[in-house]
Amino acid sequence: AIRLDGVSKYFGDFQVLREVSMRVGTGERVVICGPSGSGKSTVVRCINRLETHEAGVIEVFGREVGNRTTPEALGREIGMVFQQFNLFPHLSVLDNLTLGPMKALGLSRRDAEERAMAYLTRVRIPEQAGKRPGQLSGGQQQRVAIARSLAMEPKVLLFDEPTSALDPEMIAEVLDVMIDLAEDGRTMIVVTHEMGFARKVADQMIFMDAGEIVETGPPAEFFAAPKSKRCQTFLSQIL
Ligand code: ATP
Ligand code: MG
Repeated sequence: AIRLDGVSKYFGDFQVLREVSMRVGTGERVVICGPSGSGKSTVVRCINRLETHEAGVIEVFGREVGNRTTPEALGREIGMVFQQFNLFPHLSVLDNLTLGPMKALGLSRRDAEERAMAYLTRVRIPEQAGKRPGQLSGGQQQRVAIARSLAMEPKVLLFDEPTSALDPEMIAEVLDVMIDLAEDGRTMIVVTHEMGFARKVADQMIFMDAGEIVETGPPAEFFAAPKSKRCQTFLSQIL
């Protein structure tokens, strides 16, 4: 579904990605972890074109995405959930969910609202539809953000540390929703340090450090016997 081959990226003179290659098959769940500043966000932002890359190839469902591909053009294929929710604060929860499907997919308000309510039910907060994001807890806001991505019915969901801005008691409710989505067979790329979640849902673990992929593997091997010193050190710090 998604293929990166030798992707490199620079911020000025600083090389933030070093020949990153990965493959994510349809229905596969990939968890990316690694220390702060290792380039995890940059990788997912390159996949959905919030950033451009300087070398290598990125392919999304068989089409190469170049540096002229806009995030809007990929909006139908890729959904993204950020650490900081990024909801529209002046719109109701329902309107946050109907905006994209109406504007980008051409759904009628009626159809968009029906779809919005189905996804709010899916993330277990249909009763919050009429509120503004600011009236919700962090965990509820993040579930709205997930429902908003789902409402575009993308082929793959990218998550960039979706629980790291949340209070501990709200992390589980968001992870539960994500586990649910994974069990549906959705294609997901998740940047997270929630290793319990990773063990449960990941088909493939990717460990990044200093802009490169240092280690990959199925979670069973990855956690039981990390091969590189860098990965061992990282895991010993967070587990
Ligand atoms: P974290 O766990 O803290 O979110 P990360 O692994 O997601 O870290 P990135 O955000 O991808 O890391 O950043 C990788 C490196 O690139 C960091 O050293 C960061 O300072 C640098 N960087 C990120 N964005 C920019 C930018 N717009 N301009 C210059 N440098 C940047
Ligand atoms: Mg990041």
